[in-house]
Amino acid sequence: MDDRNFRNAMGKFATGVTVLTTYLEDEVHGMTANAFMSVSLNPRLVLISIGEKARMLDKINESGKFAVNILSEAQKELSMHFAGQIKENRQIQFGWINELPVIKNALANIVCKVHSKQIAGDHTLFIGEVTELVISEGAPLAFYEGKYGKILS
Ligand code: FAD
Ligand code: NAD
Repeated sequence: MDDRNFRNAMGKFATGVTVLTTYLEDEVHGMTANAFMSVSLNPRLVLISIGEKARMLDKINESGKFAVNILSEAQKELSMHFAGQIKENRQIQFGWINELPVIKNALANIVCKVHSKQIAGDHTLFIGEVTELVISEGAPLAFYEGKYGKILS
């Protein structure tokens, strides 16, 4: 098994796409992520996984809070932007919930404070306790076999 095999296998698991956002020292930082899951209802916990090379790692370690913004199918370009796949500089207008930046018009903005974390290989798993939620209607952006797609209904 090589890394490509591993990624090809993981890519068979179709996911939605999120942009994680946080705020530290007067700066907003965003990063595209599909490693996200709901963990617990009581208390309300979710999980994200951040690679050791991602700038987001230090930001969340220091801020102790983050938002998970679940993207709609109309937000593919935002996903590419926050994954560094579009090189041009862009000004993004963020919304705000409880002093945390969020992506406007996302299907859900899930605002969290860090509950606990676990280093796992070359990633850090953050468990977030959900403090605020905003939900909108729309169809999700999907990610499958390393490509963006749509969910047919
Ligand atoms: P950077 O690479 O510096 O930032 C990412 C991009 O966002 C840059 O283009 C930057 O200009 C822009 N940006 C950041 N903040 C702002 C702002 N305030 N205003 C405007 N633009 C801004 N990696 C993981 O660790 N975990 C995952 O679960 C994960 N899932 C992914 C899923 C998909 C579908 C894709 C495509 C990538 C995924 N990645 C994941 C990879 C990750 O998105 C990239 O490695 C990303 O570039 C790492 O971001 P960074 O924090 O290092 O910051
Ligand atoms: P890809 O074929 O690399 O991704 C397919 C699947 O492999 C992903 O959905 C994810 O489950 C897994 N994966 C990919 N890179 C990983 C990593 N470094 N650690 C753990 N799991 C990983 O798709 P792509 O279009 O080539 O991805 C674009 C870029 O985004 C690549 O650089 C990729 O490494 C990165 N990415 C990272 C993660 C992550 O760190 N969890 C997830 C998705 C994509």
